[in-house]
Amino acid sequence: MRITCPHCGPRDHSEFTYGGDGTVTRPDDTVTDRAAWEDYVYLRDNPRGPHVELWHHGQGCRMWLRVTRDTVTHAITRVEAVGPWAGHINKGDGS
Ligand SMILES: [Zn+2]
Repeated sequence: MRITCPHCGPRDHSEFTYGGDGTVTRPDDTVTDRAAWEDYVYLRDNPRGPHVELWHHGQGCRMWLRVTRDTVTHAITRVEAVGPWAGHINKGDGS
């Protein structure tokens, strides 16, 4: 499987580390409901088909990427940088 990093270009997946489900949202710090925190920490969907995941390019630019990957075919349909420089990287203007 190859992942096209918006900064580095196409790279083998061995350069990346899987960072988990990219659709999970952390509860607000004021949330005290134990079930909400258990859901956040432990419960994940196991979808068949397109899924949004986080990947870290640790052997390259070290950016975090949000990757849409089909869990059946491993086809990647979208990759975008996340983090403070994501806007510039995703636009490709290099500024
Ligand atoms: Zn990269």
